[in-house]
Amino acid sequence: MARLGLIFGDQLNLDHALLDALDPACDRLLMGELVAETEYVRHHGKKIALIFSAMRHFRDELEQAGWSVTYHVFDPDSDIRSFTDLVRWASAAEGVDTLLVAWPGEWRLLEEVRAWEQELGVAVSVLPDTRFLGALEDFERWARGRKQLRMEYFYRPMRRRTGLLMEDDQPVGGSWNFDADNRKRWRGDPPAARPMRFTPDATTDEVLALVDKRIPHFGVLEGFDYPVTRAQARRALAHFVSAALPYFGDFQDALPDDEDYLFHSRLSSSLNLGLLSPMEVCRAAEQAWRDGQAPLNAVEGFIRQIIGWREYIRGIYWLKMPDYADLNALGNDQPLPDWYWTGKTQMRCLARAIDATRQNAYAHHIQRLMVTGNFALLLGVVPREICEWYLAVYADAYDWVELPNTLGMVMHADGGLLASKPYAASGKYIQRMGDHCAHCRYRVANTVGEDACPFNALYWDFLDRHRERFERNPRMTMMYRNVDRMDAERLSAIRERAREIREQVERF
Ligand SMILES: Cc1cc2nc3c(=O)[nH]c(=O)nc-3n(C[C@H](O)[C@H](O)[C@H](O)COP(=O)(O)OP(=O)(O)OC[C@H]3O[C@@H](n4cnc5c(N)ncnc54)[C@H](O)[C@@H]3O)c2cc1C
Repeated sequence: MARLGLIFGDQLNLDHALLDALDPACDRLLMGELVAETEYVRHHGKKIALIFSAMRHFRDELEQAGWSVTYHVFDPDSDIRSFTDLVRWASAAEGVDTLLVAWPGEWRLLEEVRAWEQELGVAVSVLPDTRFLGALEDFERWARGRKQLRMEYFYRPMRRRTGLLMEDDQPVGGSWNFDADNRKRWRGDPPAARPMRFTPDATTDEVLALVDKRIPHFGVLEGFDYPVTRAQARRALAHFVSAALPYFGDFQDALPDDEDYLFHSRLSSSLNLGLLSPMEVCRAAEQAWRDGQAPLNAVEGFIRQIIGWREYIRGIYWLKMPDYADLNALGNDQPLPDWYWTGKTQMRCLARAIDATRQNAYAHHIQRLMVTGNFALLLGVVPREICEWYLAVYADAYDWVELPNTLGMVMHADGGLLASKPYAASGKYIQRMGDHCAHCRYRVANTVGEDACPFNALYWDFLDRHRERFERNPRMTMMYRNVDRMDAERLSAIRERAREIREQVERF
């Protein structure tokens, strides 16, 4: 009887806990491209191709390192459709008594794993997921007894723990956070950096053809250029550090009309697949600062996204699931507009963000938060529908990271657990941070009338509808002061315009 280690498709790290726990001389590894994993949402084709190609390359690396890997290639006609099917088949075929996995990235998968001992009669051992810096127990300990779980207070101990940008227990530069310097509008100078592109090899080409012919998917497959191996991901990291990191901070919040990446890293897909470790990415950024290649505001801002936001978001997910997924604190009931899938909207900022999403399986953080997210928040979309969209359309999307970002940060559906106030903004914000409005059919200066930017009426109407919940929030006092300055006639025209947008949203 032997032990079998099941490697999930997003755990392609060579420091995987299974590789320490098992012995290549007598134990086997198991990997599978499964129909059920391609079907639970309508994923972007590039996301499926990325995962399958990275899995196949990882299998090859494991075999070269002396491991025996049983690998199930995608087959829609096979009886093996889910991880449960795969484990049932492999444990029978290979006479396995003990199965090892690492903690998965999604609650639904953990549930599946937990049923195996009973359902399949194999002993199951769940090891830690080494793609993260902190253990889930540490996050639980940090959260225990706190009234508010603010990222900023999670981040500081993480800086101390990792030693990143620290000097004698104090943050370098005398401050934990330099965000005040990070809100510049980008006007074309310096030129956008853009991520490194990788031409598909034979393995990726094969997978792209498979997705094209056999797997229903969202978005455009042409132009696939993601890193699919650790070696490629390391090159993408080096390229980011030298070409984009120096400007990452300054233009982190910018919303240019004609640049899909600007100075963002596009490293999320590699981090989330385990091709890069969070610590090596942060160390590379820190080194650039120590070498005088990148300013502190950029490097601190970047490191905070990874040891702060990324770890914190994951902690929240596992702390609050499974109930978290059903929250709808604002009582939203609007369906997701169909044009989130097609991009056919006349609002320029949304059309650009959705088009980039369809083309690249990527949109940068401010597009996700302040354009597609903000609109869904203001419109009052049912959280489940917008969460499903984000989970489907991005190459880096897994439940552990997508759900708290969408349901908590964007939709405020957790009642403010994650964000002290909703990130609601009118068209003015979008105008200030970029040049979409100059190309838009709607007038950002107007709130009512056929040509008025729909964000505007929806924004004031959002504040009005949720007055009871938010008016005493100290961070929203100014907003409500502005609402209070409106006379009854103005407010009624805004409500009417917002009602019209909600009822006829497909035509906007
Ligand atoms: C509604 C919404 C949904 C999101 N869904 C996902 C998702 O499914 N997967 C995902 O990885 N990120 C998600 N994010 C977070 C963030 O937008 C992406 O990580 C980022 O845009 C990825 O692009 P990048 O690698 O160029 O990031 P950069 O801007 O270069 O940032 C560097 C890294 O920081 C990390 N990071 C930054 N912000 C966050 C955050 N809020 N949460 C977690 N990690 C963060 C990522 O690993 C990222 O690669 C979401 C954000 C929002 C507002």
